[in-house]
Amino acid sequence: MSTSSNKHSNAITNNFESPFVKLKSINFGDCKWNSGFWAEKVKIAEDKMLPYMGDLLCGDIGHGLNNFKIAAGEKKGVHKGFYWHDGDFYKFMEAKMYVYGLTKNESILKELDEYIGVIGRAQEEDGYIHTHVQITEGVDRFENRKYHEMYNFGHLFIAGSVHYRITSQRNFLDIAVKMADLLCAYFMPDTKHYQRFGFNQTQIMGLVELYRTTRDKKYLKLAEKFINRRGTYEIKHDSTTLGYPIGDMVQERTPFRESKEAVGHAVLALYYYAGAADVYAETGEKALLDALDALWENVTGKKMYVTGAVGQAHYGASTNLDMIEEGFIDAYMMPNMTAYNETCANLCNAMFSSRMMAIKDESRYADIIELVLYNSGLSGISVEGKDYFYSNPLRMVNNSRNYDSHADVTESPVRQPYLECFCCPPNLVRTICKSSGWAYNLSENGVAVVLFGGNNLDTTMLDGSPLKLSQDTEYPWKGLVKITVDECKNSAFEIKVRIPKWAVGSTLKVNGEDAGVTVNPGNFATIKRVWKANDVIILDMPMEVTLVEGHNRIEEVRNQVAVKRGPIVYCIETPDLPKEASILDIYYNTNSPLNAVHKNDFLGGVTVVETELLLRTGKNDDMYQTVTKPSFTSFKTQLVPYFVWSNRGQAEMTVFMPIIWN
Ligand SMILES: [Zn+2]
Repeated sequence: MSTSSNKHSNAITNNFESPFVKLKSINFGDCKWNSGFWAEKVKIAEDKMLPYMGDLLCGDIGHGLNNFKIAAGEKKGVHKGFYWHDGDFYKFMEAKMYVYGLTKNESILKELDEYIGVIGRAQEEDGYIHTHVQITEGVDRFENRKYHEMYNFGHLFIAGSVHYRITSQRNFLDIAVKMADLLCAYFMPDTKHYQRFGFNQTQIMGLVELYRTTRDKKYLKLAEKFINRRGTYEIKHDSTTLGYPIGDMVQERTPFRESKEAVGHAVLALYYYAGAADVYAETGEKALLDALDALWENVTGKKMYVTGAVGQAHYGASTNLDMIEEGFIDAYMMPNMTAYNETCANLCNAMFSSRMMAIKDESRYADIIELVLYNSGLSGISVEGKDYFYSNPLRMVNNSRNYDSHADVTESPVRQPYLECFCCPPNLVRTICKSSGWAYNLSENGVAVVLFGGNNLDTTMLDGSPLKLSQDTEYPWKGLVKITVDECKNSAFEIKVRIPKWAVGSTLKVNGEDAGVTVNPGNFATIKRVWKANDVIILDMPMEVTLVEGHNRIEEVRNQVAVKRGPIVYCIETPDLPKEASILDIYYNTNSPLNAVHKNDFLGGVTVVETELLLRTGKNDDMYQTVTKPSFTSFKTQLVPYFVWSNRGQAEMTVFMPIIWN
């Protein structure tokens, strides 16, 4: 274990000693949401989302715990669920760890110990643990990468590290270390059979996190090896790849350092990029950073939806014409209705961005974290906290697609109480539970305010001096954020305040007077001074309702607009349409008012945008038709935040609406 006397080794991603990271993570638990949006979400996660998910995964609907029990010889049966179900269970456990970190509720710790006990007994003598391979007859270790062994191991390494950091207990970490040592034994030597593993590469992030926990360099070396091997062999099927697409689908056609375009499965890609960012944080290799920069720009600048979602297509092709699933297609090709946008992919986009922000000390990366959190992340779960979306399209049209014919249930017109492919729900819930760990970062001589929300920060600066701040705000519904210094050192230090890119016209005051620093949207505003207790920073962001249009190259949104207020993207859905109206006949008129109105008792408490829209009449069902001057009738209605759509029964919905310019 790390023996240095550092004070910040208990973060989600522990980059305290990472030489190439400028903004260090705070220890998990140093920041706690105490009021407002995220405090409420974390409470729902604790009270509803996790108990419900626990019933699923520890019972007979999900199969997480059962599989471990069967592998441990404590239950009879066959492996159920997808290959990667162990990983889903580890993510569920990780979410519980965060809740324990925030509440110190001993019963959670006990519950985790019980799960860890079963997992430990399921682990084989030499360290191997993967229930599908262990239980299923005729299946061998590392014979085919489609078994997602790397994915499950990666989540084990991360969860084991987080558990140790938050609880100081070694029991789960020991299981992870034993598995990682075995992985090193198999994969450190360069053999042809193993060179193409590294598929769905959460193990890269996981190995770096294990290195950070144990300081054993071999884990970092292996993480690097998994990156270095990509793109070094001929792309044709062999015994290890059968049953799953190859090439760009799994980011193996182009060596990482030569990659300029995000390709293939979006979750695989973004976990890979996040892992490469973790490796860069330790090695500082410029070629890695150049590729990371290019990939981040490509993802967020050419292939991302206005909601922060990524992975445009369920099925498609890469620009090299490799078949891909659940992933990236061409730049600016952004279908609304068939957008795939797996919840995991959107969350991975935030994970990748959080690493880039830490490396580069630039706030624009945090704008993406926020965009995902409030929109395409949260849309993955119902307001009540029990139903899930796997894909998050930007438009839903009744009878437009035969969802029943889809063999898998990852696309659905309404949220589902259980997803057979259960990767997204625990990924989202762990993200909600850990969100306070993303709220602040530490700079060399200061602190960065990254996310807004009512919270208390009780931490130590990198030089060891105590720092306490509190944040008061009704964000994201209101743009006023009050940051109070509660305790700090006597000498000067900086407080960096993120000014979101959309927040044009923001003002920043210290103790009632202009802060006297540049307030540039899309950047941190850095206030350096000698602070004292009770100093107050007020950030005032204008919360105008704005219209957003897409780049000219995005054909799918030509002459359409989306409505946005602050970080929240809005949509219109069936319950707010005239009876029988189709979502495809709804137009926005530039004369329409856009009034933000907060409704406490509506959809968990949200600000809606009241407006007047137009309903076009008279179109027929012909594929093409001669058009004369169309007729419209106007109606008063409201737009709701995208993340709460589909909470009032099955609905049609759209984010982008055609606009009539007056
Ligand atoms: Zn998922």
